[in-house]
Amino acid sequence: MISKNMKVLVEKSAAISALFTEGKRMRQILGDENVFDFGIGNPNVKAPLSVNKTAMEILENMDSLAIHSYTDGAGIPSVRSAIAESLNRRFQEEYTGENIVMTTGAAGGLNVIMKVLLDEGDEVLTFAPYFGEYDAYVANAGGKLIAIEPNIPTFLPDPKKLEDAISPKTKAIIINNPNNPTGVVYGEEILQEVAEILRKKEKEIGTSIYLISDEPYRELVFDGVTVPYIPKIYGNTIVAYSFSKSLSLPGDRIGYLTIPSTVEDFQDVVYGAGVANRVLGFVNAPALQQLVVAKCCDEKSDVAFYDKNREILYNALTSYGYECAKPQGAFYLFVKALEEDDVAFVNKAKEFGILMTPSSGFRCKGYARIAYCVARETIESALPSFEKLAKAYNK
Ligand code: PLP
Repeated sequence: MISKNMKVLVEKSAAISALFTEGKRMRQILGDENVFDFGIGNPNVKAPLSVNKTAMEILENMDSLAIHSYTDGAGIPSVRSAIAESLNRRFQEEYTGENIVMTTGAAGGLNVIMKVLLDEGDEVLTFAPYFGEYDAYVANAGGKLIAIEPNIPTFLPDPKKLEDAISPKTKAIIINNPNNPTGVVYGEEILQEVAEILRKKEKEIGTSIYLISDEPYRELVFDGVTVPYIPKIYGNTIVAYSFSKSLSLPGDRIGYLTIPSTVEDFQDVVYGAGVANRVLGFVNAPALQQLVVAKCCDEKSDVAFYDKNREILYNALTSYGYECAKPQGAFYLFVKALEEDDVAFVNKAKEFGILMTPSSGFRCKGYARIAYCVARETIESALPSFEKLAKAYNK
């Protein structure tokens, strides 16, 4: 018999798997051309050509044993150095390879850092709505995720609510910027406020609070917006980064943790992260992908493609009467459901061939997430259906 914990996870996962299978089922009933799947954040932009080219060059020119061997738990030393140098160029830091631990995407990085930091019963805060997998990542390491109520309609962190949520059990806070599911980008000022509160509460309680900055969407920003580099604002910050979205490599499972020397017990955290990679069964981040991203980490995805999708969708939806804040980052649009129950709204949308994710999955009621990382054609063909859906609610 499977464990009680896993039973709960399987039930929760059913909703996510349902999104995959639902699309298939709807295509059979309505026909391919009448189904518009905005459910999953799987990039539709191809990885830069240089990624495949680099992989081929490595496979052709490097010793096969060296490519496919186990690596250090923390990653290949030359790869860690290459990533550190790239970050130094971009953020004027002074990192060395010692500050970088290669991981299997941000998901791997977050699980690793939770394993390193948490004791049984420790609490980890995050602002709702949030990426629903955080619950499991924290629980996997024996911790408890505490969600801070959403700050509607801005979806920016609410400093007062943060202050109230911090307790002697608070070990860390996860911040996701740009944000999935809202597409909101937190600016310098609000992050300074968050940092102030963390420092104040640390002093008051006599503890230390780690900030985990989850940044798979860092480069996916629009309108000239910049994403503040949080380690400059709060020294005790560890960044979980991923190439899944920035280079469209979600299946390759590659990313890294940046652990600045200002992080409390820095050496222990770095060493622990390498060990955590091993004991969690990742062993090491995929060796070939480590070698590839070391050479391609300064490449960029086609952000203009997502930007255009965003413009088309946002302009059309607001003209049909939908309410949503214009997203400034990631590739999600968080639209207010046209009835109170977001699940009922998403089910209604299915009648028009539209697949979205209900916001309750992100611990926030009354919205739906539209992942617009899809083909342009899907966006354009879906617009009449979005209009019909709005009309069905007398919009
Ligand atoms: N964090 C957030 C906010 C995400 O949206 C995702 C994936 O969608 C992840 C982490 C995990 O990404 P990865 O593919 O890098 O493991």
